[in-house]
Amino acid sequence: MSARVIDGKAIAATVRERVAAEVAAHAAEQGRTPVLATVIVGDDPASEIYVRNKHRACEEAGMRSVHHGLAAETSESELLELVRELGGDPDVDGILVQLPVPQHIDPDRVVAAIDPGKDVDGLTPANAGLLAHGMPGLVPCTPAGVMELLRHEGVELEGAEAVVVGRSKLVGVPVARLLLGANATVTVCHSRTRDLTATCRRADLLVAAVGVPRLLGADAVKPGSVVIAVAMNRTEEGLCGDVDYAPAAEVAAAITPVPGGVGPMTIAMLLVNTLAAARARV
Ligand code: NAP
Repeated sequence: MSARVIDGKAIAATVRERVAAEVAAHAAEQGRTPVLATVIVGDDPASEIYVRNKHRACEEAGMRSVHHGLAAETSESELLELVRELGGDPDVDGILVQLPVPQHIDPDRVVAAIDPGKDVDGLTPANAGLLAHGMPGLVPCTPAGVMELLRHEGVELEGAEAVVVGRSKLVGVPVARLLLGANATVTVCHSRTRDLTATCRRADLLVAAVGVPRLLGADAVKPGSVVIAVAMNRTEEGLCGDVDYAPAAEVAAAITPVPGGVGPMTIAMLLVNTLAAARARV
């Protein structure tokens, strides 16, 4: 293997330490610590684990978190009422509604009801609009984490050919917009892209955010490029990314492992966003 391994766990730990120090300073100045409110509807075990980890990370950074666990049969209007209540609650700085929500609830309507100033997932139309316009706002955590990895690794983005595979509101589109803001030349691929392998092989920076195990082989990786694999796929042989790691690592200059690459950055950037939301309310 020739590629440098981008250690997301270590970089996330650095970010979390920095946030903890800034939270302590903020609390000393303001007399209160930032508060994250989380909401889960139903009892999806994966959501429970994600949210528990987020609460633990908040505590470790010196922030407070409060949880609202709602029954699976909670109506959309009840959920909207809670989200609006949290928006008006002066003690709450950040609001996170863990997705997915049960089928009878429209996630877009719920997200749109979040106070944009407390939208620590960066998913409201208001924050997505600010990002689209290249204006400051709260940026979705995983895309922000990808950019932090690239910054930490000193990856030159100006003029670089970047290919993003995936065009979701959560990952692909915001990553592409952030890379454009960093002056990369950006191509976004998706399920209808004609020659995915050839398009990816052009990339100085390849970001894969799909959710298909080993979709991209070494033939999709340009020699000497940087590869960021966002998804963590569960297979019978264990966890793997969208990029076939070992062969790709023979070709790339740097690559994120799965697990231990982008994953840990998501929670770290949630802490960054919660602190930013608290600061903006002062
Ligand atoms: P998503 O909404 O399902 O989007 C997947 C994207 O991949 C879509 O744009 C889809 O194209 C595209 N795609 C699907 N099959 C493809 C194919 N064969 N060739 C090319 N493109 C294809 O998922 P997401 O929310 O963006 O998340 C992507 C993955 O990252 C998921 O596995 C998710 O679990 C993971 N994730 C990880 C983290 C983390 O912290 N590490 C955070 C968020 C998400 P179309 O638009 O044409 O359908």
